[in-house]
Amino acid sequence: MKILIINCGSSSLKFQLIDSESEKVLAKGLCERIGIDGGMLNYQPEGKDKIVKNVEMADHTVAVQLVIDSLVDEKDGVIKGLDEIGAVGHRIVHGGEKFAEATIINDEVIKAIEECNDLAPLHNPANLIGIRSCQKIMPKVPMVAVFDTAFHQTMPKKAYLYGIPYEYYKKYKIRRYGFHGTSHSYVSKRTAEILGKDYNNMNIIVCHLGNGASISAVKNGKCVDTSMGLTPLEGLIMGTRSGDLDPAILEFLCQKEKLSISEVLNVLNKKSGVLGLSEISSDFRDIGKEADAGNDQAKTTLEAYSYRVAKYIGAYVAALNGVDAIAFTAGVGENDGSRREAICEYLGYLGIELDKEKNGKRGEELVISKPDSKVKVLVVPTNEELAIARETAKLVK
Ligand code: ADP
Repeated sequence: MKILIINCGSSSLKFQLIDSESEKVLAKGLCERIGIDGGMLNYQPEGKDKIVKNVEMADHTVAVQLVIDSLVDEKDGVIKGLDEIGAVGHRIVHGGEKFAEATIINDEVIKAIEECNDLAPLHNPANLIGIRSCQKIMPKVPMVAVFDTAFHQTMPKKAYLYGIPYEYYKKYKIRRYGFHGTSHSYVSKRTAEILGKDYNNMNIIVCHLGNGASISAVKNGKCVDTSMGLTPLEGLIMGTRSGDLDPAILEFLCQKEKLSISEVLNVLNKKSGVLGLSEISSDFRDIGKEADAGNDQAKTTLEAYSYRVAKYIGAYVAALNGVDAIAFTAGVGENDGSRREAICEYLGYLGIELDKEKNGKRGEELVISKPDSKVKVLVVPTNEELAIARETAKLVK
């Protein structure tokens, strides 16, 4: 079956067409600046030249139609007609406590996703627009919602409750949810497969270190803790997000800088993390270059980043009561050997020994610990689209 994967943002739409039998990507691309001037379509059909078109897209329905037109185009298309698309898989950011698994989309599911809008006001409404646009253009094609939060729904209460009055959990469902679940699920399963071990009988820590970053603790195939919270702001120091901090800082900054709460939150989401600390960039390559050239602030930024990751790993070793494997994934986790090495330097007590030569490689599935390392350390490139395609294929037979 050919499955269209849609990841819809407020002004953008990423897509992939995947053959669920061969698991090959037939085409992929991105619509940018939907609803604003200067719209652009990037379309990459498998084995053909990439196409970039400047085209205005008044709304997401126009964008979805453009995607379909590209996929069925006589010259650059990869399918003959719309009827070849067997299903659509939608990436949905927040499923609240309602969704512990992917689900076939119907009116009830749409309503339940809508009810989670308060928890992800930037993402869920955009995801819903993507669903509705696809329904308009492909009313007969079954669609599946795959949630970023679902994998973490197995966390026990002791891990997801905040130490605040319980009535806020009861009234508003304020608790930790976690994100990047599709990636944590995919990478933890692959880790067990690569090591030839039973996924349902081992402890894995997954470090998803991209621009957004989170860690999860996976026991016997189930997530028992993860570092992001009610929103993706909690946890690690990220590209532009602060991660954990003393909540009293909010009022302090409001007063000193004469900012509103939402302005401070904007600083914590978009101007903090390694960007804010380094005053250089949110991109680790830029910070790494400066650090190599002797810039102390850049060095301190990288140290603070690695230290935070190592502290979370330590916490999750305790949560799991031991760990068999640690997997690194996403932009930094897959490509930045220096970061992996700096993090693993804190973990000697676990009996971890890195193979420095293997750790020097980039972007491929690899065990980077030495053969007699007590805990295995791996690089496992994430593939959220493939994971969404698999979930979709499972539900649409
Ligand atoms: P997201 O999906 O969260 O936007 P990615 O997983 O694509 O992010 O990761 C993007 C980040 O990965 C970039 O900001 C960059 O810092 C980092 N990155 C990518 N390649 C490298 C590399 N070769 N060395 C160090 N960092 C890298």
